[in-house]
Amino acid sequence: MKKLFSLLLIATLVLMAACGNKSSVKESGDKLQIYTTVFPFKSMIEQIGGDHVTVSSIYPNGIDIHTYEPTQKDTMRIAKSDIFFYTGDELDQVSAKIAQVINKKDKTVQLAKDIDDNDLLAGEEHDHDHEAEHEHEHDHGAHDPHVWLDPEMNKSFAKVIKDELVKKDKAHEKEYTKNYEKLVKDIDEIDKQLKTIIKTKKQDTVFISHDSIGYLAKRYGFKQEGVSGMNNEEPSQSDIINMINNINKSKATVILYEQNIPTKTVDIIKDKTNATAVPFHNMAVLTDKDKKDVTYQDLMKINIDSLDKALNNK
Ligand SMILES: [Zn+2]
Ligand SMILES: [Zn+2]
Repeated sequence: MKKLFSLLLIATLVLMAACGNKSSVKESGDKLQIYTTVFPFKSMIEQIGGDHVTVSSIYPNGIDIHTYEPTQKDTMRIAKSDIFFYTGDELDQVSAKIAQVINKKDKTVQLAKDIDDNDLLAGEEHDHDHEAEHEHEHDHGAHDPHVWLDPEMNKSFAKVIKDELVKKDKAHEKEYTKNYEKLVKDIDEIDKQLKTIIKTKKQDTVFISHDSIGYLAKRYGFKQEGVSGMNNEEPSQSDIINMINNINKSKATVILYEQNIPTKTVDIIKDKTNATAVPFHNMAVLTDKDKKDVTYQDLMKINIDSLDKALNNK
C-alpha cells in the first residue's frame, strides 16, 4: 500500500511538472503580440495563430469606425506590438497614420497588398464643398473600405496573415499552414452558400442601414441601398423619402439593421414600409451583445441567413 502511495505521489509530481512546463511555454511573452483593425481580421489571425498569438483590435467595442481616431497613448500601445495588420494605406487612412508612427516595415502589414486595384470599389462622392468645410468627421478614402465582407478577399488576406506569421515564427510553420488551410475551407463554404441563396433571388436590391455590403453585392450580383452612405453620414430628408419609395416599389420585405449603426432613421423608414428589421453584422466591431468566443464564420452564417431573407422575400 505504501508503495502505491509513493507511486501515486511520483505520478502527481510528474503531472505537475508537465503542467508547469506547459504554462511557462504559454506565457504571453512567448506569444506574438498582434494588433489589427476590424473583427474578421482578428478572428482569422486568432484561428491561424492558435496558441502562439495574442490579438487585439484597435477599436473599442461597438463604435462607429468611420469616426474613430486613436489617442497618442493608443498609438504607442499599438506600436509596442510585434505586428500591426490593417487593410492598406488607401483603404484605411487612420491605420496608415498609425503605421507611419510605428515606422518599421517589418512590423506593419497591409493585408490588401495582393488585391488588384481594379477589384476595389470607388470611395463615396461627397456632396459638400470640402474647401469650405475644413473639419470632417468622416474619412475620404479613395476606396470603399468594407473589403472584409467579401469572402474571396478574405482568402487573400488569410494568406498574407499566414505568410507573415510563418516569417515571424518559423518554428510553428506546420501548425499555421494547417490552420490556414482549414480556414480557407470554411471561407469556401461561405462562398458556396452565398452563391446558393443568390440563385433564387426575388429582389435586386438589399436595403441596409449603411452602405457596407458593396463588395458582397458586386461579388454575388445584387445592389445595395444604404440609409447612410459608406462613411455613415446622416442621410438627407430627400434620401429618406427616396428610400421609402424604393422599398415600397420593390415590395422588399426586409431592411438590414447593423450592430453598430444607430437605428433612429432606419426605424422611421421601416415604419413607413412593410419591411421588417433583420440583423446584419458588418463585423467592423463587435458589441457587448456578441459572445466572447464568436468567430468570423459564426457571424457570416447569420449574415447569409439575413441576406437570404432580404433577397428571397422570406
Ligand atoms: Zn466630406
Ligand atoms: Zn462602414
